[in-house]
Amino acid sequence: MRTRATTKRLASEHDEDQDLIRLLRARRQRVTSQRLVILRELRRRGMHATAEELLDTVRESLPGTSTPTIYATLELLVELGLVRKIDVGIGASLYDPRTDPHQHMVCHRCGRIYDLDGEYAVDALMRAATESGFRPDTAELVIHGQCAECAG
Ligand SMILES: [Zn+2]
Ligand SMILES: [Zn+2]
Repeated sequence: MRTRATTKRLASEHDEDQDLIRLLRARRQRVTSQRLVILRELRRRGMHATAEELLDTVRESLPGTSTPTIYATLELLVELGLVRKIDVGIGASLYDPRTDPHQHMVCHRCGRIYDLDGEYAVDALMRAATESGFRPDTAELVIHGQCAECAG
Protein backbone atom coordinates (compact mmCIF):
# COMPACT_ATOMS: atom_id res chain seq x y z
CA MET A 1 0.00 0.00 0.00
CA ARG A 2 1.48 3.27 -1.09
CA THR A 3 -1.24 5.70 -0.06
CA ARG A 4 -0.46 8.18 2.64
CA ALA A 5 -1.99 7.22 5.95
CA THR A 6 -4.49 9.72 7.26
CA THR A 7 -4.91 8.87 10.91
CA LYS A 8 -2.32 8.48 13.61
CA ARG A 9 -3.24 4.82 14.11
CA LEU A 10 -2.86 4.01 10.45
CA ALA A 11 0.36 5.97 10.28
CA SER A 12 1.91 3.95 13.06
CA GLU A 13 0.76 0.66 11.54
CA HIS A 14 2.24 1.75 8.29
CA ASP A 15 5.53 2.63 9.99
CA GLU A 16 5.50 -0.70 11.78
CA ASP A 17 5.39 -2.56 8.52
CA GLN A 18 8.28 -0.58 7.15
CA ASP A 19 10.92 -2.18 9.36
CA LEU A 20 9.81 -5.67 8.29
CA ILE A 21 9.58 -4.70 4.63
CA ARG A 22 13.04 -3.13 4.73
CA LEU A 23 14.61 -6.15 6.43
CA LEU A 24 12.98 -8.64 4.05
CA ARG A 25 14.07 -6.68 1.01
CA ALA A 26 17.63 -6.43 2.32
CA ARG A 27 17.68 -10.23 2.47
CA ARG A 28 15.90 -10.57 -0.88
CA GLN A 29 13.03 -12.36 0.81
CA ARG A 30 9.45 -11.93 -0.26
CA VAL A 31 7.15 -9.49 1.51
CA THR A 32 4.07 -11.69 1.93
CA SER A 33 0.76 -10.72 3.48
CA GLN A 34 1.19 -13.55 5.98
CA ARG A 35 4.48 -12.10 7.20
CA LEU A 36 2.95 -8.65 7.55
CA VAL A 37 -0.26 -9.84 9.22
CA ILE A 38 1.50 -12.10 11.74
CA LEU A 39 3.83 -9.33 12.92
CA ARG A 40 0.99 -6.80 12.94
CA GLU A 41 -1.19 -9.12 15.00
CA LEU A 42 1.54 -9.75 17.55
CA ARG A 43 2.19 -6.02 17.88
CA ARG A 44 -1.52 -5.25 18.11
CA ARG A 45 -1.84 -7.62 21.06
CA GLY A 46 1.16 -6.00 22.66
CA MET A 47 1.87 -9.08 24.73
CA HIS A 48 3.35 -12.56 24.60
CA ALA A 49 1.44 -15.09 22.55
CA THR A 50 1.92 -18.70 21.52
CA ALA A 51 1.93 -19.63 17.84
CA GLU A 52 -1.41 -21.39 18.31
CA GLU A 53 -3.01 -18.29 19.83
CA LEU A 54 -1.77 -16.18 16.94
CA LEU A 55 -2.93 -18.71 14.38
CA ASP A 56 -6.56 -18.31 15.46
CA THR A 57 -6.61 -14.56 14.87
CA VAL A 58 -4.39 -14.59 11.79
CA ARG A 59 -6.78 -17.10 10.17
CA GLU A 60 -9.61 -14.59 10.53
CA SER A 61 -7.99 -12.37 7.90
CA LEU A 62 -5.95 -15.05 6.10
CA PRO A 63 -7.95 -18.30 6.33
CA GLY A 64 -5.38 -20.37 4.43
CA THR A 65 -2.60 -19.87 6.98
CA SER A 66 -1.18 -23.23 8.07
CA THR A 67 0.50 -24.18 11.33
CA PRO A 68 3.92 -24.71 9.65
CA THR A 69 3.62 -21.27 8.03
CA ILE A 70 2.97 -19.53 11.31
CA TYR A 71 5.93 -21.27 12.98
CA ALA A 72 8.25 -20.56 10.04
CA THR A 73 7.14 -16.92 9.93
CA LEU A 74 7.63 -16.43 13.65
CA GLU A 75 11.11 -17.96 13.42
CA LEU A 76 11.90 -15.57 10.59
CA LEU A 77 10.68 -12.60 12.64
CA VAL A 78 12.89 -13.74 15.53
CA GLU A 79 15.85 -14.03 13.17
CA LEU A 80 15.19 -10.52 11.90
CA GLY A 81 15.22 -9.23 15.48
CA LEU A 82 11.62 -7.97 15.38
CA VAL A 83 10.22 -10.54 17.79
CA ARG A 84 11.70 -12.28 20.80
CA LYS A 85 11.09 -15.97 21.47
CA ILE A 86 10.88 -16.91 25.12
CA ASP A 87 10.49 -20.13 27.02
CA VAL A 88 8.96 -19.61 30.43
CA GLY A 89 8.43 -23.29 31.09
CA ILE A 90 4.76 -23.51 30.09
CA GLY A 91 5.36 -26.04 27.32
CA ALA A 92 4.89 -23.84 24.27
CA SER A 93 7.27 -21.07 23.27
CA LEU A 94 5.99 -17.53 23.54
CA TYR A 95 6.56 -14.83 21.00
CA ASP A 96 7.12 -11.38 22.43
CA PRO A 97 6.66 -8.17 20.43
CA ARG A 98 8.91 -6.36 22.93
CA THR A 99 12.54 -6.77 21.94
CA ASP A 100 14.01 -4.33 24.47
CA PRO A 101 15.73 -5.84 27.53
CA HIS A 102 13.26 -7.20 30.04
CA GLN A 103 12.66 -10.41 31.94
CA HIS A 104 9.57 -12.45 32.70
CA MET A 105 7.62 -13.43 35.76
CA VAL A 106 5.18 -16.33 35.57
CA CYS A 107 2.32 -16.74 38.03
CA HIS A 108 1.74 -20.42 38.77
CA ARG A 109 -1.81 -19.76 39.94
CA CYS A 110 -3.37 -17.76 37.09
CA GLY A 111 -0.74 -18.56 34.46
CA ARG A 112 -0.28 -14.93 33.49
CA ILE A 113 3.12 -13.75 32.33
CA TYR A 114 4.38 -10.36 33.42
CA ASP A 115 7.22 -8.24 32.10
CA LEU A 116 9.94 -7.12 34.46
CA ASP A 117 11.85 -4.18 33.01
CA GLY A 118 15.61 -3.92 33.15
CA GLU A 119 18.58 -6.21 32.67
CA TYR A 120 20.22 -5.85 36.08
CA ALA A 121 20.21 -9.46 37.26
CA VAL A 122 21.26 -10.81 33.89
CA ASP A 123 24.40 -8.60 33.81
CA ALA A 124 25.86 -10.57 36.70
CA LEU A 125 24.97 -13.88 35.05
CA MET A 126 26.55 -12.83 31.78
CA ARG A 127 29.71 -11.72 33.59
CA ALA A 128 29.94 -15.00 35.49
CA ALA A 129 29.49 -16.94 32.25
CA THR A 130 32.20 -14.89 30.53
CA GLU A 131 34.57 -15.42 33.46
CA SER A 132 34.07 -19.18 33.18
CA GLY A 133 35.42 -18.98 29.64
CA PHE A 134 32.02 -19.23 27.96
CA ARG A 135 31.07 -16.63 25.35
CA PRO A 136 27.43 -15.83 26.09
CA ASP A 137 25.04 -14.24 23.58
CA THR A 138 21.96 -13.82 25.71
CA ALA A 139 20.56 -14.94 29.03
CA GLU A 140 16.99 -15.55 30.03
CA LEU A 141 15.80 -15.20 33.56
CA VAL A 142 12.33 -16.46 34.43
CA ILE A 143 10.89 -15.76 37.84
CA HIS A 144 8.20 -18.15 39.08
CA GLY A 145 5.74 -17.38 41.82
CA GLN A 146 2.41 -15.68 42.45
CA CYS A 147 1.34 -12.36 40.97
CA ALA A 148 0.12 -9.51 43.19
CA GLU A 149 -3.52 -10.35 42.39
CA CYS A 150 -3.23 -14.04 43.21
CA ALA A 151 -1.08 -13.48 46.29
CA GLY A 152 -3.80 -11.03 47.39
ZN1 LIG B 1 -1.66 -14.72 39.24
ZN1 LIG C 1 8.02 -9.76 27.50
